[in-house]
Amino acid sequence: MVLDLQAAIRESERSAETAHERAEARGAQCKVCPLYKRRRGPVMGEVRAGAKLAIIGEAPGKREVEEARVFTGPSGVELEDGLRLGGLRRNETTIINVMGCQPDIEGGSLGDYLTWLGRENVRRQEAGKPAWMSPIEACRPRLLEDLRESDSDVWLAVGGRALEAVARMHGLNYGKGKDSVDAVTIATIGNQHGAPIEIPPEVSAASPVTPKKRIVATSLHPAFAMRGKRAYKYVIQEDIARGARIADRGYIDWSMPDDVTLYPTIEVVEEVCRVFVAHKTEVAVDIEGDSADTLTCNVRCVGIGGVWTSSATGTKLGSPTAS
Ligand code: SF4
Repeated sequence: MVLDLQAAIRESERSAETAHERAEARGAQCKVCPLYKRRRGPVMGEVRAGAKLAIIGEAPGKREVEEARVFTGPSGVELEDGLRLGGLRRNETTIINVMGCQPDIEGGSLGDYLTWLGRENVRRQEAGKPAWMSPIEACRPRLLEDLRESDSDVWLAVGGRALEAVARMHGLNYGKGKDSVDAVTIATIGNQHGAPIEIPPEVSAASPVTPKKRIVATSLHPAFAMRGKRAYKYVIQEDIARGARIADRGYIDWSMPDDVTLYPTIEVVEEVCRVFVAHKTEVAVDIEGDSADTLTCNVRCVGIGGVWTSSATGTKLGSPTAS
């Protein structure tokens, strides 16, 4: 039994080593990465040359590492449902992650891990040791190689780290808001999700990935809905579906769709509007447009909200935002 266990450990070490070799062959700098040989990957992506859509996630989770497959388990189910809704199947897409390995914090998010790594690097420098490279940086050449091979005109960034990586590889700032004129701007994923970004050839020319006109669709990560934000499940599904539709037709369609998917439901939106009218509320609308020229661009309402004062208590009340 003991011998079997040792043989199993040796086998798992061998297969981890082979996986690292495969990642290194695609450019990953595994030997300077703090996740090297931590037995949490690498999980190689599903790269299909010429795929209509390249989906970029963040990092593999426990299930992905166990099955050595990107976007499997509950996140994979959500992703595939969204793709199906938008008319694409998984095997028509490229699916990759920003990082090949799972962050080294049990139960923590990628953000938690990067915060921990920052603190750890301060300690290491104080102790005269070299700082660890960020796994995102160490894995970046592999990500670029995957995207080059896929050569897709439409990308779908799933999660903030994925969108940040896309912004950086085009020399753009992440989280700068959507209101600059004459420039491509990329907001944080919380504000940008659902709104595709058109990257013109002159901007993509600065990218290490094949320069071309590119559309980047955006979605929150399915894991976000699973970590207690259940209300976002359908928003995420629709955002993924939108990316699939854009990839399928090759451009952003601004005509009125036959079916309008609303979350919350139309009944909830009508109820919210009745509350606005009853309270004479000032209403804020969230719109997205297809160009920086606000006088001529197409606009679409993607959310409404309002705040009013309770006549009984004098306190401010907020409406749910319908989007
Ligand atoms: S995260 Fe990327 S660079 Fe780091 S060990 Fe894993 S595959 Fe290698």
